[in-house]
Amino acid sequence: MYDVIIVGAGTAGLASAVYTSMNNQNLKIMLLEKESKCGRKLSASGNGKCNITNSEWSFNCYSSDNEAFIDDFVSKHNPNEIIRFFELLGIPLYEKNGYYYPFSNMAKQVTSILIDELDRRKVSIVCDAKVTRIRYEENERRYYVYANNMGSKPIECKNIILALGSNASPKLGGSDTLDIIKKLEISTVPFVPSLCPIYVEDDLLKIAKGVRVDGKVNICVGKKIYSESGQVQFNDNNLSGIALMNLSKYVYDLKGDEFKDALFIELLPEYSWDKLKEYIICTINIFMKRSVINMLDGFLPHQLSVYILRRLKLDENMRIGDLPDKQINRLTSCIKMLNFTPKLYEDYDKAQVSLGGVKLKEIDADTFESRKYPGLYIVGEVLDMTGKCGGYNISFAILSAIAASRNILGDL
Ligand SMILES: Cc1cc2nc3c(=O)[nH]c(=O)nc-3n(C[C@H](O)[C@H](O)[C@H](O)COP(=O)(O)OP(=O)(O)OC[C@H]3O[C@@H](n4cnc5c(N)ncnc54)[C@H](O)[C@@H]3O)c2cc1C
Repeated sequence: MYDVIIVGAGTAGLASAVYTSMNNQNLKIMLLEKESKCGRKLSASGNGKCNITNSEWSFNCYSSDNEAFIDDFVSKHNPNEIIRFFELLGIPLYEKNGYYYPFSNMAKQVTSILIDELDRRKVSIVCDAKVTRIRYEENERRYYVYANNMGSKPIECKNIILALGSNASPKLGGSDTLDIIKKLEISTVPFVPSLCPIYVEDDLLKIAKGVRVDGKVNICVGKKIYSESGQVQFNDNNLSGIALMNLSKYVYDLKGDEFKDALFIELLPEYSWDKLKEYIICTINIFMKRSVINMLDGFLPHQLSVYILRRLKLDENMRIGDLPDKQINRLTSCIKMLNFTPKLYEDYDKAQVSLGGVKLKEIDADTFESRKYPGLYIVGEVLDMTGKCGGYNISFAILSAIAASRNILGDL
């Protein structure tokens, strides 16, 4: 019989196995993973560089249906715990603009170090073993775990940690992990993709494909406007970049007519509307004979200039000296408030995480132990707690995993 079985060898599962085995070498621990490799998302994280945590740490960094839980979590934990955990593993982190990465800048190496540590500590890791069912025997206070490729007999354990992740990014192993949770009659919030591009209704958008510019991105939901500044990337049928990804969750809050022009980007953040108009008028006064496209090319990437003029149905070759005041206003407004109508398109392939998951009322906020099943812990992204870009999801996966492991270590 195992002391601990961890289901899912992703970020949280690996962290939990490492923490538990480092703190008690005598425990019999097994890690079951449905994929042929462990930690696939961790290995792909941060564009392969592994953005582990962040110096900004507040309520606003996470979302969940249960806001009290977020409050409690951010007040009890902080990034130093993560930094310390990695230091103890021989992976010091460096900070750049608040974002923490390993000095190697290699996410794959972080995964390898975790796996090597488990091998050294003789933790049994079984890949290609998808857990299909978990049975709890109350009288024995014992779990029976059924997994593919593990024979017909279930594996027995005293404690079980579910570190299943979400259905985001199926190419990296994401799947509908709530199935197994629902069989245990644990309540859940349905998954929806998050930290993904925002898809928009715009046939002309492909003209600007590949353009990257800085801007302030805003999404208007009812009477509220959510904003974030950063780089905006124009794609065939969507807009991406960290600001867009962080705001993508709000598209699910839009209803009916609210979709229309709900997203708007303020280009050239250095210029206010008035200052930009003044600049355009100044340019017109000096270079009357220049074409409109030529003038826009002075401060915007060419493809974006073409796109804006097409949207406004303005002739690229028109002399700027011939632009009436009304068109100068339209041009200024288009640059300072480039609006889009978002569409609901659930692109799990491009989503880094999913919103939703196990309802947080199902677990103890300190230990992550199920309130229904003693000895069953639920950690990481499968829970209804999602961070924004910047290392918050890895942070949550690791902090929740450590909290569960600590409780198990104390209990045994
Ligand atoms: C491309 C990409 C880049 C990212 N970059 C960052 C970043 O830089 N910083 C950051 O903070 N976050 C990042 N994230 C998000 C982060 O990787 C995840 O939030 C984090 O890995 C979640 O950890 P987890 O252990 O809960 O889930 P996962 O890491 O997804 O692990 C879950 C594991 O459980 C396994 N599993 C599921 N069901 C079963 C089953 N029934 N039986 C056995 N095994 C099962 C899965 O195969 C998987 O290996 C990124 C995500 C992606 C996709």
